[in-house]
Amino acid sequence: MSVYAILFDQTLCVGCRACEEACQQENHQPPHQAEGLDAESLTWVEDLGDENYARHLCMHCENPTCASVCPVAALQKSPLGPVTWSAERCIGCRYCMLACPFHVPRYQWNSPNPELRKCQMCAHRLAQGRPTACAEACPTGATTFGRRRTLLREGRNRIESDPETYLETIYGRQEAGGTSVLMLLGRTCGTAHLPANVPPYDLPRLTWGVLEKLPLIIPVWGVFLGGVYWLTQRREAVARAEGAEKGEQQ
Ligand code: SF4
Ligand code: SF4
Ligand code: SF4
Repeated sequence: MSVYAILFDQTLCVGCRACEEACQQENHQPPHQAEGLDAESLTWVEDLGDENYARHLCMHCENPTCASVCPVAALQKSPLGPVTWSAERCIGCRYCMLACPFHVPRYQWNSPNPELRKCQMCAHRLAQGRPTACAEACPTGATTFGRRRTLLREGRNRIESDPETYLETIYGRQEAGGTSVLMLLGRTCGTAHLPANVPPYDLPRLTWGVLEKLPLIIPVWGVFLGGVYWLTQRREAVARAEGAEKGEQQ
């Protein structure tokens, strides 16, 4: 189980979008009001009407399906909690976009050099012992950061002490085998538009069940993609070496 998590309490959110703003700043994106998750919006505060809001971001699954289908290990789960994506490794096959049960990863379709985009749980900040930028910026405590175990306990306490306010389950405690983003949902806050049918167990075992039934196609495709990856790396290494050689000759 990962060490850290983000807890979003829908009943405390006032829709100020400080989390969105902090996220954009932290990720060097132009300031804007998000209208959904997209290449420039790694988190989105959805206005549900009647002063109710929902937050959307990568759930940082304990056993992420996106990572399990990636043929070159461009997505990886850190023991601290974040599921991170590596530009150096990614070959752009976009299997992860199809595999994610929460429909999170986005692609820079309009860029000549497109990248996959999703929340990285501020992994660089966690490595420095700092909380995520969104949790630090939230003025009401609707988004908090801490140890996953502690946040689960805190969530249970809030539900038990005020069962009329909260739905009785913590979204993310079990979904897809558990996630590093946990959500407390209000009974009268309207639907938070979170996928309702995510099974309460690790999904990679399903993807591997399917892959096992495709003994020829997948290994061959995997070898092909691995080859493409190797060729890309090789081409870049050659270009670097040639550049260095030219530099020496000048
Ligand atoms: S929510 Fe989707 S993108 Fe995020 S870790 Fe889980 S499977 Fe991967
Ligand atoms: S954890 Fe970091 S990258 Fe993810 S939504 Fe919060 S601020 Fe953005
Ligand atoms: S900063 Fe906090 S209160 Fe403001 S929109 Fe984000 S989660 Fe809600």
